[in-house]
Amino acid sequence: MVKKNVNIDKQLGRDSGNSRPGMDLNIFTLAFGDELEQKFRQDYFQSSVRLLRYSFFLGIIYYSSFAFLDVVALPEVKRELFIIRFYVVIPVILAVFLLSFTKGFHRWWQFAAFIATTIAGFGIVVMTVISPELGRHHYYPGAMLVLFYCYMLIKLRFVWASLAGWLIIIAYLVSTILFPGVDLDVARINLFFLVSANILGMFGGYALEFYARKDFFNRYLLKKESEKVEEANEKLEEKVREKTRSLKEDIQRRKLIEKELIDAKNRAEESDRLKSAFLANMSHEIRTPMNGILGFTGLLSEPDLTGEQQKKYVEIIQKSGDRMLNTVNDLIDISRIETEQVQPAMKTVDVIREFQNFFAFFQKEAKDKDLQLFLDSKDLPEKLVLQTDPSLFESIMTNLLKNAIKYTSKGFIRFGAKLNENHVEFYVSDTGIGIPEERQDAIFDRFVQADIQDTKAFEGSGLGLSITKAYVELLGGSIWLRSEINSGSTFYFTHPLLAIDKKNGH
Ligand code: ADP
Repeated sequence: MVKKNVNIDKQLGRDSGNSRPGMDLNIFTLAFGDELEQKFRQDYFQSSVRLLRYSFFLGIIYYSSFAFLDVVALPEVKRELFIIRFYVVIPVILAVFLLSFTKGFHRWWQFAAFIATTIAGFGIVVMTVISPELGRHHYYPGAMLVLFYCYMLIKLRFVWASLAGWLIIIAYLVSTILFPGVDLDVARINLFFLVSANILGMFGGYALEFYARKDFFNRYLLKKESEKVEEANEKLEEKVREKTRSLKEDIQRRKLIEKELIDAKNRAEESDRLKSAFLANMSHEIRTPMNGILGFTGLLSEPDLTGEQQKKYVEIIQKSGDRMLNTVNDLIDISRIETEQVQPAMKTVDVIREFQNFFAFFQKEAKDKDLQLFLDSKDLPEKLVLQTDPSLFESIMTNLLKNAIKYTSKGFIRFGAKLNENHVEFYVSDTGIGIPEERQDAIFDRFVQADIQDTKAFEGSGLGLSITKAYVELLGGSIWLRSEINSGSTFYFTHPLLAIDKKNGH
């Protein structure tokens, strides 16, 4: 058979529209392409099996109730007719009916229904053959009822139904030729009716299957469309999720930026505040000695001063000058550090000798405040020579010792060093006022003294420790402290041993 495919919408003269695909099927067998056909057959079985069972059940009742007609109209052959009805046809129909409840029935249900219908049709034909004239002439409509069943009720597919229909008609035709008991005119008339019924049946069967397929195809398209919609929905949801995620990230980023901005603003404000406090402190540190100098220089010009008074005033002027010089020196140092002008000039320094010098120099200052000064060199070799910048080293030690004396009112000051694997660890320890823990980090920042209200009792620019830290680091070491409020502080700093010369066998 030539396989011709048709587009159903074109056939029906409808515009299928561009987006909706047409239904391609073979116009003779009504079959779809492979994959779709499989699906259709499954669906067709599921939607037909119930009707098939009802129809077969009804068929059994019909086929058996016609036995009444046999008794009334053809009592002579009723036994034979009964045999055909009750021993052949009905058992076959019953068997198919029962088999329809078995598992693999969907695979061969069309064939089974075809066999049952054909046998039912053949049964009628045999009945006409074996009946006397009345049955021979008038039992043929039974075949029409079978055709009706075959095309309309049991959902036999068009191809199978047509085959069964034509087989029954051929059987009838053959029976009239082989068993010429029927009048030729009657046979012709009967055949005419049978063929017409079959052709109409074919037409009806074709239409039924065609619309069943169309309905299936529409449902199939609908399912596909809804799958597409679902897929699109999922994609959309994924996009929304992605967008939400990126929005969240964006918000987080913005929050972070905002926090950074606030921090930067706070830092700027803090640094501004510190700078103002620093300037105020500096002007205090310059004005106070300046007032001292000017005030006492004025007093010195008084005519009636005793020698004692003169000496005292000169001392005050001297002290004020020193203090101012210190402040100016600190300022110069910090600005040189800031502009990276400080370059260490390494020389050989005898640490023990330097220690002894510091001890001699600060002993007087300590004594003036009733403090004891100790030099701790028990852990050091007798002669320890270090490659360092002598002026930076001296500056560091001086600063720490000065502070120790300055911030201690009773007790002692101890300084010394110990030798480590690859560096010397120096320390300056006191029993002074101590530094609260929360300030210990900030103490090396410049302007810090300026910011501490309650230390105003102690004079000083607040630059000393930041200069000290910068020098320690320039020499390749680090500085830290341990301190407890009201118990005292110890400042440690390291100096690399790289260029150290350990005489004395260490
Ligand atoms: P200042 O010129 O004010 O002494 P520094 O930079 O030398 O400035 O010291 C900073 C601050 O650290 C001081 O104002 C003081 O509060 C604290 N400080 C430094 N050394 C000591 C110490 N030995 N004991 C207690 N406090 C100290």
